[in-house]
Amino acid sequence: MTAPDKLTGSLTRSPWTPSRDEWAETLGDVPAYRLDQLWHGLYEEGSAPPDISTLPKSMRADIGRRFQAALRPVAEQRSADGNTIKWLWETVDGSRVETVLMHYDRRSTVCISSQAGCAMDCGFCATGQAGFKRHLSVGEILEQVVAARRSCRNDSADRDDDAAGSGPSRRLSNVVFMGMGEPFANYDRVLTATRRLMVDFGLGARHITISTVGLVPQMNRFADEGLQVGLALSLHAANDTLRNDLVPINRKHSIADLIDACRRYRERTGRRVSIEWAMIDGVNDRDSDADELIGVARDARAHVNLIPLNPTPGWPTVGSPTQRIERFAARLRSADVNVTVRRNRGTDIDAACGQLAGSRSTTEPGAGPTTVELRPRR
Ligand code: SF4
Repeated sequence: MTAPDKLTGSLTRSPWTPSRDEWAETLGDVPAYRLDQLWHGLYEEGSAPPDISTLPKSMRADIGRRFQAALRPVAEQRSADGNTIKWLWETVDGSRVETVLMHYDRRSTVCISSQAGCAMDCGFCATGQAGFKRHLSVGEILEQVVAARRSCRNDSADRDDDAAGSGPSRRLSNVVFMGMGEPFANYDRVLTATRRLMVDFGLGARHITISTVGLVPQMNRFADEGLQVGLALSLHAANDTLRNDLVPINRKHSIADLIDACRRYRERTGRRVSIEWAMIDGVNDRDSDADELIGVARDARAHVNLIPLNPTPGWPTVGSPTQRIERFAARLRSADVNVTVRRNRGTDIDAACGQLAGSRSTTEPGAGPTTVELRPRR
């Protein structure tokens, strides 16, 4: 058996791990068009090498022996309206991770995981409640995007076949690192995956967002990478006492340090950081919380996204009622802070923010959302 990667524990070499140059080296003395065929199969069709029919059988078999998909599909769940899809994957060493694809009117966004579990221990988050297992490899990160692109393409093909011909075609337009894990704790692999998304998947930097709970050294390092990738800061509290409770890493990197890092990011990249704020009933949704947030958002020159907290089994509080969220947003707007109230997507399949736990949803399949057990493709 292949030795595990020292840092990620991954046991396989995913065919999406090598860059095009590395593939050229691996293939050796074959005609250049074979590399084109392989590349087209991997990135345009989203096919694993054994399924790339343009390649000769012997070549497919040889590549298939040396490179295997790193994620095995376990289950796919669709929300009742069909616009949110969640996949549960198992890695070769038995870790479980999740990916969520969300279709909107004019775009489709995939929310990907960067770690199996998470060590940041934010109490309200199902991933944090489950603990940390390991970092994901570059291949494991990219395969989630491959699956989302394939799903968009298949969905579009189904719609074309549909006699009613309803709806626009679907194309994966955005990738957000907001699934399981703290992306900056897995910095090098997330950075490599981000560059690969830009070069090999053809996604613009502005269509990629990395979310962090506030690892200041990595935020500063990322500001110097010369990328115009979106950066989202999961803040959730605008004073250190409350944030120390909600987001324990705050004991190491205070809000003042975060504000400096946000300003620096904007200066270096020209991109404004967005502040993510999970609205928690009676915890961070009072007028006084809004006033504190106004101060931080102004200092950080940030846009604010308000997200109603989603229920998780290990946290006793619930999301703020709609009226309170509207009042909170209005208070921010009246202070000239840019604010967006995010819609919750996929709560019926536990696919919403903070609900990813690497396990099957407790939602029963039936009249609403659907769950499909998936057989391995390998
Ligand atoms: S909110 Fe993000 S950083 Fe915090 S435990 Fe959950 S996945 Fe980790």
